[in-house]
Amino acid sequence: MRVRFWGTRGSLPVALTSADVLDKLAAALLAGSGRKFASYADAHAFAQQELPESLKHTFGGHTSCVEIESGADEYCVCDMGSGARAFGAHVLARQGARPATVNIFMSHMHWDHIMGFPFFGPAYVQGTRLRIYGCHPGLEQAFRRQQEPPGFPVKFDQLGGAIEFIHLEPGSTREVAGMRVNTLLQRHSGDSYGYRFERDGKSVVYSTDSEHKLDDRAETDRFVRFFKNADLVVFDAMYSFADAISVKADWGHSSNVVGVELCQLAGARHLALFHHEPANDDAAITELLRDARRLEELTRGEQPALAISAAHDGMEIEL
Ligand SMILES: [Zn+2]
Ligand SMILES: [Zn+2]
Repeated sequence: MRVRFWGTRGSLPVALTSADVLDKLAAALLAGSGRKFASYADAHAFAQQELPESLKHTFGGHTSCVEIESGADEYCVCDMGSGARAFGAHVLARQGARPATVNIFMSHMHWDHIMGFPFFGPAYVQGTRLRIYGCHPGLEQAFRRQQEPPGFPVKFDQLGGAIEFIHLEPGSTREVAGMRVNTLLQRHSGDSYGYRFERDGKSVVYSTDSEHKLDDRAETDRFVRFFKNADLVVFDAMYSFADAISVKADWGHSSNVVGVELCQLAGARHLALFHHEPANDDAAITELLRDARRLEELTRGEQPALAISAAHDGMEIEL
């Protein structure tokens, strides 16, 4: 299995500003001062190999959209945030003239999780099959409503693909594209659902827009079971721990610290911090990642190390 991140930001898409780009350029020029580059390729290799992550990288980007490649001849994706536009372009390029089958697993229908759907290219192609899975009764309505006038020029019924909505019973298991798919109810305004995908002994959990109250033992146990021995947990780490338990308590999101604790309790192997707060710049997200890694090291004990990443658009993880 392979996981590909097309959108990793929470609530609202975020782009680097010109001032951000200028900052990175100035710092990169400083890092390369005294060096001579004979060609673009030389300069590119220097940037790639010698510049720090903070200069050659950005967290971006689009809102929630994460592809789970199962190896089957169908696509699987979690949420249709603004990253769905780039994911759709990838599907069209890969398919050529062959219409695609895409399985879409919806955590919930908050705007940042459906806003990319009207820009999802394959939905406009005759012969495309879209299966939209979710546990919420109002799933179909939310997709239709977002394309009603005056919000968008193309109505849902004008899309070219065959679109089917499939209701999942929370807690039930289903086979999709060669994977076993489980769902779990999460604490979030209007409810959200996490997904666990398993195939050939590998497992990935997608758990976004989910607040955790670790003093609620029964609830914590449910998540520990859901995350159990997962090869990868994609986790809502929108806030710092301090914010999550003070000013932003009950806002429906979690933190880097809680992600580490739950993954350690569950014996998960890799934690991807996800759904980054739009107000956080690259430096702030890097700091949350550093804090999570420091905490993991301090609390690891005899357990095997937990790998921790901060997800960014374009990141791929092979399981
Ligand atoms: Zn969200
Ligand atoms: Zn939400």
